[in-house]
Amino acid sequence: MVKIYLGKHVGFCWGVQRVLDLVKKLLGNGEKVHVFGDLVHNDFVIGELEASGVIFHGEDEVWKVGELDGVAVIRAHGTPPEERERLERISRKVFDGTCPIVSRLFEIGEAMEREGYQVCVYGNPQHPEMRAFKGYVKTAAFYPEICEGRKVAILAQTTADFSKFMEYAHSSMGAGKAEVRIFNTICSETLMREKEVREMAKIYDVVLVVGGKKSSNTRKLYEIARNHGTALWVEDVNDLEGYKRHFQGKIGIVSGTSTPMKIVRRIANYIERGGHIK
Ligand code: SF4
Repeated sequence: MVKIYLGKHVGFCWGVQRVLDLVKKLLGNGEKVHVFGDLVHNDFVIGELEASGVIFHGEDEVWKVGELDGVAVIRAHGTPPEERERLERISRKVFDGTCPIVSRLFEIGEAMEREGYQVCVYGNPQHPEMRAFKGYVKTAAFYPEICEGRKVAILAQTTADFSKFMEYAHSSMGAGKAEVRIFNTICSETLMREKEVREMAKIYDVVLVVGGKKSSNTRKLYEIARNHGTALWVEDVNDLEGYKRHFQGKIGIVSGTSTPMKIVRRIANYIERGGHIK
């Protein structure tokens, strides 16, 4: 006997939905849409967009390609200002899909740097959002670097783990600091998902975390679930083949913010049918 419990916060977050709606509208208007880097960290979504005509380029190809035969869309993670200027030169028009929560992070970082603070960020400098951030705040330091300077401003990647961010902030409050400003720039959508997965992992036999392997917020959900119970990280039903022994008892399902609801439902149906695709 198996019973499925879907999380309340599953499927796309509104920032991802917003950029996908933008791209679909442009395609509907007959535009040729170019995107540099993954629009979202989900191969299924990227495959669907490619099939609809979106042209994807590598993240670093913005400096290599010539004039584009259409418009460019900036993804939800944002892009460094110099890359945006380059896109403006080579495309017919640039549409900005940067999530407003990510834009707010860039704005705070810029303002703090302008006011003479050493900006320190709890985030992964290789992540596209942080790559874009570095374009706006050239002097930013990133964890695990020690936050030097008398006046420091501490920020987080929007998908960072809140408790680890707080630890980093505390460790940066050492002697010699005249002023420490801490900005909670973590997205509330990811915080709600974290809280929910923590509770689900404690009460259900297993929690399935659905999302792309490149998605940092999915990874974080999986790590939280694993620390509090039994967890599996899957991208689609194919990944469940070897796990049929887990199809019993109470199964919770959550997802990363770039996972479409249809994949979540497909996985729920697959488990309810004992491992058969409808
Ligand atoms: S997770 Fe939050 S910050 Fe990231 S795209 Fe979604 S709403 Fe925006």
